[in-house]
Order: sequence, then structure tokens, then C-alpha cells
Amino acid sequence: MPIPTENVGSLPRPAKLQAAIADYDAGRITQEELKVVQDEACRDSIERMEATGAPIISDGEQRASSFATYPLADTLAGTGLADNLAGDGQYFAIFTDGHHRQLPRLTGGPFKYKTYAADYLKEAVKIAHKPLKQAVIAPSMLSLLYPLDGEIEGYSREQFLKDLVNECEKDIRQCFEAGAERVSIDFTEGRLACKNDPRNPWTGRKMLDSFVELNNRVIDRFSPEERKNIGIHTCPGGDCDSTHSDEVDYADMLPSMFKMNAGYFLIQLASEKDKEYVYKLCGEHSRDDANGVPQVCFIGVIDPLNPTVETPEQVRDDLVTAAKYIPVERLGSTDDCGFSPFSIDVKPKHGSPDVARDVAFQKIESRVKGTQMASEELGVA
Ligand SMILES: [Zn+2]
Repeated sequence: MPIPTENVGSLPRPAKLQAAIADYDAGRITQEELKVVQDEACRDSIERMEATGAPIISDGEQRASSFATYPLADTLAGTGLADNLAGDGQYFAIFTDGHHRQLPRLTGGPFKYKTYAADYLKEAVKIAHKPLKQAVIAPSMLSLLYPLDGEIEGYSREQFLKDLVNECEKDIRQCFEAGAERVSIDFTEGRLACKNDPRNPWTGRKMLDSFVELNNRVIDRFSPEERKNIGIHTCPGGDCDSTHSDEVDYADMLPSMFKMNAGYFLIQLASEKDKEYVYKLCGEHSRDDANGVPQVCFIGVIDPLNPTVETPEQVRDDLVTAAKYIPVERLGSTDDCGFSPFSIDVKPKHGSPDVARDVAFQKIESRVKGTQMASEELGVA
């Protein structure tokens, strides 16, 4: 079988869409008018991703407020916030360039998604000619909606976690029911959990293992056959061409991450300083039997934060090197992250989101070509 290749999920939203979102937040246009612009961006994303030759595609998350907040609010500014939430939650991340992103705060129960990822997928299925993947948010990220200390009166932490696990399971099941071939769970908070940033209190609480345990409460509800197509994405963040935790040694994170009983992992790697070191860690800690499924390591071969387009030869060489440490039947390729996990992202290193979109499709094409070349070189084409 040729080496599989898969994107993480998002693409930069066109400047026109970002302007429409601002207009919607300001009350200058209606939700129906915003949807027209979203529809157009989704169609363009799907058509152009299909044209790269990619075997599996997504809608570029053009309708989502962000990879983490899509179940909770219509826009990143908080328009249409779900019930029992307030806007002023904890930071989920403070990025290296100084900007931050904040989560809402839970004020009471019950916790319920307002939007499921399948709501977007159902629209994408109507347009796509290729299999679709869908990214969903991890329960570990949304567990940060509950205040770090103390209990919400009338809604215990354990009741919240129960409701959260049910909602996350439903989010994934609905994606498969709507036609997703694969569903990957965004787990950017995993690496950040090892950072201990004093400005961001939750990162200092050694929460990684409890995150892994919580995520397994959802993953373990699926059969081995289903888990083959359930993935986990890890990265050091990717927003406004900046990261939040790339100084964290993967050796502190990967051994815990591979304890999750998922069938595949989308691992940021192209932008790592010492890739071979991380390939080796993946080879050592990924399992060929995670309660009935082999864990396939999709290594990052494309850096979405850097406007320079990788060549297919670079992609091929990365995969051939990785195959020294990871069995080729458990090897895949991916991008280091979504190209714009948050809807509002000017992509400063690229000059504009529209330029960044053009660059993204070129990068995806290189990934597809280079992966094909690696399959040939490794004798699995
Ligand atoms: Zn990411």
C-alpha cells in the first residue's frame, strides 16, 4: 500500500471572508449573508484541494470560528456564544509573538455543543468529489472551559466531564454518519501542557496525563475498526504564523500521546530542529497494537507557517529518513498543522491570507507528489 497522506484541516480564510465575519460581528450583515461568503470559500477550498491530487481533503474549516471554538460560538469574537458560557475564560495559549487566544468560561450546566463538526461536513459532502476528512476538537481542550480551581455551584466537575465526553463522542460519530472517511482530533494542548508558562496557569499543572486519560474516555467508546480512522493531531500551535510550545522536548510528550488508543497520529515535524530525533521517538513509542489497532505515524513534511514551498524531493527525503525508524506500513505524511486554525488570521509572514491560500495549495501538491516519490523509493507504491 502506498504511503498515505492527509491534511490536518484548516486553510486560511480569504480576506473577503474575514471581512464578512467582521461585518457580521458588527451587525452590518445577516447570518444568511455571511453564509453566502462561507459557501463560496468552502467551494473554492474543496475544488483547489482536489486539484492538488490529494487523496483525501477537507473544506478548509471555512465555516468554523476556530478548531477549538466551533462547537461554542459562531465567530471568534464570540458572536452567538452557546448557553452557559461567558467570553472571559482562561487563555488556551500565549504565542511566541506575544498574542494570545482565550477560551470561553463555563458558568453552569449542562454543557452542550451548539454546532457539531458534521454540520459543516454535511455541506462539504454536497460539493466534494473525493473522500473527506473532518477535524474535531479534543475533550482535553474543552475541559479547560471549567474553572481550574473549585466547582461551579450545581454543576460538578465530574458531571461536566461526563457531559463533555458524551458531546465529543457524538461529534465524532456524526462525522462518520455524515460521510467522513477519517476524523482527527486536534490535540495542540498536549505539547503546551508540558511548557509551564507562568502567564498561563493551567500549563503549570502537569495536566498531560489527565488529558490523555480524558481523551481515551471518548476514544475507547469506538471499535478497533472505527479507531483505525480516528486520529490525533499534535503540534506546538500555528496561529498568525507563530507557535506556542515548540521549545518543549517531544520526549516529554510523545510517550504519553501514544497511550491514546487512536489509529493514527498527525505529528508536526517539518519545522523541528532535529527531525531524526523525533522520528526515532515515534518509532520507539508508537504501538503496533493499541487495543486492536496499529498506530500509524503521519509525519509533518510541510510547514504551514513558512511561506517557502517545500519541494517534492524534500518531502520524499524526509519520509525515506523517517522509514529508518518507523515501519513503512505505519508511516504517513501530513502538514505540521492546519494552515489557519483560527478564522481571523492575516498570515503576516505570507503578506496576506489570500497569498497564504495560494501557497498552501502549492505546499499540499508538493506533499502529495513527494509522498508518491517516497512510496516508489521504499518499494510500496
Ligand atoms: Zn496544529
